[in-house]
Amino acid sequence: MAKDLPVTLDGKVIYHIKLTDSFQGLAEELKQLGYQADQKICIISDSNVAKLYAETVKNILTKSFPQIFCYEFQAGEASKNTDTVNGVYEFLIQNHFDRHDLMIALGGGVVGDLTGFTAATYLRGIRFIQVPTTLLSQVDSSIGGKTGVDFDAYKNMVGAFHMPQLVYTAATSLLTLTEEQFACGMGEVIKHGLIMDADYYEWLQAHRKEILARDLSVCEQMILVSCRVKRDVVEQDPTEQGIRGILNFGHTLGHAIEKLMHFQLLHGQCVAIGLVSAAYISWKRDLLTEEEYNRIREGCLLYDLPVSAEGLDETAVLAATKKDKKMEQGQIKFVLMKGIGSSFIDRSVSDEELLEGIREILK
Ligand code: NAD
Ligand code: ZN
Repeated sequence: MAKDLPVTLDGKVIYHIKLTDSFQGLAEELKQLGYQADQKICIISDSNVAKLYAETVKNILTKSFPQIFCYEFQAGEASKNTDTVNGVYEFLIQNHFDRHDLMIALGGGVVGDLTGFTAATYLRGIRFIQVPTTLLSQVDSSIGGKTGVDFDAYKNMVGAFHMPQLVYTAATSLLTLTEEQFACGMGEVIKHGLIMDADYYEWLQAHRKEILARDLSVCEQMILVSCRVKRDVVEQDPTEQGIRGILNFGHTLGHAIEKLMHFQLLHGQCVAIGLVSAAYISWKRDLLTEEEYNRIREGCLLYDLPVSAEGLDETAVLAATKKDKKMEQGQIKFVLMKGIGSSFIDRSVSDEELLEGIREILK
């Protein structure tokens, strides 16, 4: 039985997050959503995921939905741009996709963000579903309807809010991730515990062995709790006017590092470094104890995540941080912690505090 987490907007369920151990139930889910054999489906995937899962997913769907098309692009953040989107538009046009048809994002956050953005803009919006295959996308990027692509070195500069019709996670896909990719997802998972749920953070530390061994039943429990944290936040603030900003914990500095490292470090790794820095600033403001700060730092190391970056200049990191799009009228919107499991958005973090936080992670 799939675990089911409904996501509501203005009191109405707008889609479900379904979590199960295989892709088998996907055709049934689409039928439940009212999709029929005469509707076309375009599965979008990247070069790694397509090799692993596109055929399986296509075979599962084909009996009920014979008009299936697959589009594949080169894996990696470097593909998350408008050129790739243009390629998808062209493919959809050539295959006569109209507004009744469906796109499926089969892959990690890059595929999900790019497919969602294409779906949001093609013919002024067609429907899409998320089938996330990385831990990061299962617990984070597939939920909440933020879609988009990068513009040059500017992350997620072009985008739209466009809700999926369904998020369908097959936890087995975790088994083919590299250790580095798995650790990246843990960066966002740890973030969820830190910003919202102290018990969950403890649980993560206690279950390190099973999680790192990718025990699927423990991983499913973890994905469910993380999805719930993300769901609860996006339900309260679907278009990020306020509280949703806490999900950016660790991301202001994380994005700056990601950019300055020219994307050599992965997103979740940069988030881990960023959240250590933000925790440090919180400690220096007496919002965390030294012991809590150390526990957060060690929590990242426990999951093979970096807590510092090498070869960067502190003023360059500060400048990149201030170019982040989380600026509001010249003031940085920075997420601080108030004890483990609690966080808030602050607009008063000074350059000096930021520099202290940056020095801590550059040492
Ligand atoms: P990704 O999509 O690039 O996937 C990472 C790598 O893993 C890729 O090489 C991919 O081909 C491979 N892969 C995917 N699934 C696999 C599987 N099951 N087995 C083996 N290999 C697999 O990156 P990601 O870490 O999933 O996502 C990062 C992206 O998500 C960033 O672009 C980030 O900006 C975005 N993001 C978006 C949101 C949002 O709310 N929309 C939130 C967080 C992150
Ligand atoms: Zn992130």
